[in-house]
Amino acid sequence: MKAFEKNIRKVEPYVPGEQPQNKVIKLNTNENPYPPAPGVKEALLHMDTDRMRLYPDPAAGTLVHSLAEYYGVGDDQVFVGVGSDDVLAMCFLTFFHSDKPILFPDITYSFYKVWAELYRIPYECPALDDKLRIVQEDYYKENGGVIFPNPNAPTSIYEELDFIEDILEHNRDVIVIVDEAYIDFAGKSAIELIDRYENLVVVQTFSKARSMAGMRIGYAISNPLLIKYLNDVKYSFNSYTMNQTSLVCGVEAVKDRDYFEEQVKKIVDTREWAKEELRALGFTFPDSKSNFLFVTHPQIAAKKLFEALKSANIYVRFLGGSRIQNYLRITVGTREEMEALFSFLREYVKSKGE
Ligand code: PMP
Repeated sequence: MKAFEKNIRKVEPYVPGEQPQNKVIKLNTNENPYPPAPGVKEALLHMDTDRMRLYPDPAAGTLVHSLAEYYGVGDDQVFVGVGSDDVLAMCFLTFFHSDKPILFPDITYSFYKVWAELYRIPYECPALDDKLRIVQEDYYKENGGVIFPNPNAPTSIYEELDFIEDILEHNRDVIVIVDEAYIDFAGKSAIELIDRYENLVVVQTFSKARSMAGMRIGYAISNPLLIKYLNDVKYSFNSYTMNQTSLVCGVEAVKDRDYFEEQVKKIVDTREWAKEELRALGFTFPDSKSNFLFVTHPQIAAKKLFEALKSANIYVRFLGGSRIQNYLRITVGTREEMEALFSFLREYVKSKGE
């Protein structure tokens, strides 16, 4: 090691899913298989490119306002960022500043550990139970903050609001962040609890249900005090996080509630049908309330199946890790994409059984 390397911050980075540039059946990073709302395309066609000379609005006012209207909260209760990854990174930096460990599940979004390490935040990871569910009592102990996704990823399991409230009740003195990247495919959002729990921050994204992973838009909803703390840190880091194009497209996407609900319904219907197909092939999985399924098979090695699928140009996600070594995470695609997956799986399962 060179002498100067001693002073360099060393981190073990998050490993994002593959983004192959050729045409494949892409079921590996939980994107939406349908295009964004038609108004987004229209807005892009009419973009005022001259506007690009100027810095964008640092407060992202138009997008903040449309989200505030959509959720029935004040503009001062919304914070936006470059995907929920950016929003979550800001939340870690802002809200987790204690000597006590923050808590998040042992099997969850792997970025949490990376941010905790990057910002030198102590952390503990209570184990999910043998059905891969969060054990709420594990979050009763003293801590420096709590974060978990609902539905959890990669398990796909959704917990009802009374479960979230129980964790909030036991954590009045720290910030609790609920990462709702997949909430639109699941059930009630914890946003309805923000008036009752002043320590609650709910984070959502445009990347999944709103079909805009490529635009990088995420947001947090909370009370004005916590949103102010978040903005103070953001303005100490980078004032102009949201580019002009994302702001315009984001506003258009939020306008079209009908289109949004239609696409979500299509994905949920495909998911429910996919569950039956997978069951018939001998796969088991938690009851997904997300746009992905977390599957395992008693006779099939997940890693090998992952590689076989990849050779057939069907990309799913193998995450590995001690307790989930034999699982694959499969994004719910279009009906046709899932048909192609199942015809491959039928052959594969049959050949393993012979
Ligand atoms: N939270 C969870 C649980 C996720 O799975 C993801 C997607 N990788 C994100 C947050 C981040 O998504 P994005 O930055 O695209 O909003």
